[in-house]
Amino acid sequence: MAPTSTCVICNKRGANDCASCKSASYCSKACQVLDWPLHKLLCKKFKKLPSRPNNMPSQLAILLSADDPDPRLIWVPSPQEYTEYSETGFQNPITEPLLGQPITHSAERFVVTKNEVRGYELDHSVVLFARDNWLNDGSKPNQAALALTDWELPYDWRGNILIMSFKVVAKGREGIETYQNVTLGDLRTVVDYLRRYGISIERGTEHDSLWAMLKQITDDGEEKTTVDTRTTPTPNKYKEEKNVKGVIIKCKRDIDFDKKENKRWERYSEVSVAKDHAIWKEPSTEASRIMGLPLLVHQLPPNPALTGSDLDNPPATYLNLTVDPKKAEMWGFAPPEWQNQVGSVLVVRKDGKSLSREQAWALAEYMQFRVADALGDTNDPGDVRQRRATILKILNWKCFDAFLENFKVEMTDADGKDWSNVRSPFGTRENHRGEPF
Ligand SMILES: [Zn+2]
Ligand SMILES: [Zn+2]
Repeated sequence: MAPTSTCVICNKRGANDCASCKSASYCSKACQVLDWPLHKLLCKKFKKLPSRPNNMPSQLAILLSADDPDPRLIWVPSPQEYTEYSETGFQNPITEPLLGQPITHSAERFVVTKNEVRGYELDHSVVLFARDNWLNDGSKPNQAALALTDWELPYDWRGNILIMSFKVVAKGREGIETYQNVTLGDLRTVVDYLRRYGISIERGTEHDSLWAMLKQITDDGEEKTTVDTRTTPTPNKYKEEKNVKGVIIKCKRDIDFDKKENKRWERYSEVSVAKDHAIWKEPSTEASRIMGLPLLVHQLPPNPALTGSDLDNPPATYLNLTVDPKKAEMWGFAPPEWQNQVGSVLVVRKDGKSLSREQAWALAEYMQFRVADALGDTNDPGDVRQRRATILKILNWKCFDAFLENFKVEMTDADGKDWSNVRSPFGTRENHRGEPF
């Protein structure tokens, strides 16, 4: 034990290393117990590190994979580079292949020097590397980040994330970032950081405030003259932008009515939803949050002109399944208000992007025929760990995308519409510019 070790939970000095991995220190049993659910994920792996490549200087890093809930240890080649501007040289970790992007794209860096949650300064820097354009390049929601934060991830982290550690060391007049092996204490720092990052930016609100700003400008004659009209949308245009494409899922009675009146069967139909609709105040469904694609579902008031009492709506019920592994009693069931007499519902994506009829249909079908079945198959639903394992296995974009490919083929026959161009709501290969995922 180094006498200067500090506790990763409370920052007290004179803390003791974990006896097994020696990669995180604690001042007390209480702090160790608090960190244990996170610590145990990598304790054994830190004790027995993967073999270090011997052809190049490398530093140990933690990989949060977009498609695997478990964090992984990985060596990152970090050669020393010299340029005319830096005679002393600097280390340049080669992160791009691990982030799955061409080496010509520089990674985006998030440098953490403070644990804001626990209120202390680090004696080194923890850095998260992410893809440079992860929100728009077709990257998938980061499963490890979702799982590590119990799916309470306020920001839409996508694509692989690489966690590294460095110290700024003075060399001559320069301060040089000197990389060192990541520790299990650094994982605690990152998880605290992820739980907080972007908490004040609610998804979709950036657009709202931009709109409010533009509106203010055009409502006020004086300021209007200072605005370049070539780049400012006209009022009509942003009236359109205010609406989001969502989907109505009809209950049995409304389907029957439609069948009688319009001679067609239609459960799912697309609608335009205003930005001030009551649906935006709904909480997102548990399952959609875990999958990294938060959906809002809103019960529509029943049309009093219609008779008939069958307001059941199975897709709406299944979209609202209780899947939080911590909720033992309701696990695998929908809350009472979503079980019977639900009526027709409206569904939108919380991020304000369009949701198509086919995507909503596939998501509901996935919940009903894959997820609900998988939950039903869990032998001992009394065990949180087993519930969690089941959820991690089934509620992710990978399983959904695989399901969607088959469902598209089935539906092209059954629906009478062409489903071949239906894209996954989790991202598209089309706008991905041919880069690897
Ligand atoms: Zn402590
Ligand atoms: Zn340990």
